[in-house]
Amino acid sequence: MTVDAPVLRVAIVGGGPGGLATAIALSKIPNVEVKIYEQATILREVGAGINIGTNSWNVLGLLGVADSPTTGHPEWTVLNMNGRSGEELHRRERTPDPSIKRPIIRTQRTVLQSTLLAHVPPETIQLSNKLDRLVDAGDKGLELHFKDGTSAQADLVVGADGIHSLVRDTAWPKLRHRLHRHHNLANTATCRSRPGPRPALPAHGLVALPTTHVYFSPVGAGLWEIAARAYHDPATHRASKASWGVPVANAHVESHFSDLLPDIRAALRRVPEGGWREFAAFAGPELTKLTAWDHRVVLVGDASHALSGAFGSGAGFAMEDGWVLARALEHVRNERGRALPLFERIRLPYYSHMQQAGRPARLEEIGEPSYDDRLWGKLSTDGGEDMSWIYMNDIGDVWADVLGRLDDTS
Ligand SMILES: Cc1cc2nc3c(=O)[nH]c(=O)nc-3n(C[C@H](O)[C@H](O)[C@H](O)COP(=O)(O)OP(=O)(O)OC[C@H]3O[C@@H](n4cnc5c(N)ncnc54)[C@H](O)[C@@H]3O)c2cc1C
Repeated sequence: MTVDAPVLRVAIVGGGPGGLATAIALSKIPNVEVKIYEQATILREVGAGINIGTNSWNVLGLLGVADSPTTGHPEWTVLNMNGRSGEELHRRERTPDPSIKRPIIRTQRTVLQSTLLAHVPPETIQLSNKLDRLVDAGDKGLELHFKDGTSAQADLVVGADGIHSLVRDTAWPKLRHRLHRHHNLANTATCRSRPGPRPALPAHGLVALPTTHVYFSPVGAGLWEIAARAYHDPATHRASKASWGVPVANAHVESHFSDLLPDIRAALRRVPEGGWREFAAFAGPELTKLTAWDHRVVLVGDASHALSGAFGSGAGFAMEDGWVLARALEHVRNERGRALPLFERIRLPYYSHMQQAGRPARLEEIGEPSYDDRLWGKLSTDGGEDMSWIYMNDIGDVWADVLGRLDDTS
């Protein structure tokens, strides 16, 4: 006779790509009761565009959501230009290939969010529940206390609450004040028409100066995204945790891009007032553990790696975390004490590898000598390294490989 594993009560804090993917994956395994607690009143992703690359498609497939209508614009040609001279610096061409079922696309962030949301059992999500305190209640499990005075209990808490994670601050208190604002600020806007005339502006591409760039991209459904990033001197510019998706005045955005070509500045001016949103990037120390409190707390997504948005694939990483966490729990029949070390064994070295790859540091340290060198330093953001371990990652293969190497006792 098979004895059923006891029901594991899992509380996921945060309903971003990490929390939603974790809920989808966990809701498919037996004897797990999942709830997502999300502070927002409506689950709606802020921001304009997001890339869905091969790594993200792989995990969306494993989650069983890749065949949902995820519309976007395929990235066949991407052009990089010098923002001062207009010179074409680099062009990446892929031949449109109808046989590729899931080409790399740029889409609206809301599209990814709603695709995931459609696969989360509705009773799983509790909106307007902002976690205020997380308490270890010993044998009773963990207590989650929310801002509105309500509370909940769980056996396992998944911190999917983003870069400013309260779960991480609570369970890793020594790290609490060690998150610092990265020097890059991103401003994004979505437009209903192509932002500028050919050939001065690329249909899809980056117009760069050494410390700023403007990225144009179609995102499907007849919409276009402009993402304008600028280095800000922290001595003169203050951004708080609240600078995440907040509306920002056009004049403020435009003031950082006065050196760019007139056509680019004209394109920025065409964004309607109120259309820009600002995102302050944060970075922090590398975690040496992804689990805490005797395997009752685990971090996924941005909560687990403060990489200041480096690699442009954070949503993919967050979804991979959620899927592999579910596999680990399923493999050991929901025994937290065995599953979480297994999860950590897979994901910790991966994030550590990213920290070592050090892209944020390199971007920040672009120095002299010449304007052109600095521009090239900025454009060659992959440093010529093979980044397929990120962008082509297949978390299903990673899991299969780890399973193959596990001995009976793990
Ligand atoms: C401008 C910009 C462009 C980007 N482009 C890309 C891209 O092209 N491709 C890509 O893959 N990634 C991209 N990223 C990164 C990506 O958005 C993040 O890595 C991803 O959203 C992380 O997902 P997450 O679920 O871990 O966290 P988040 O998306 O931050 O979600 C966290 C959730 O937790 C909730 N929350 C926080 N605190 C609490 C609390 N106390 N109680 C309850 N709920 C709480 C929040 O409301 C939020 O819904 C970009 C990011 C930015 C800013």
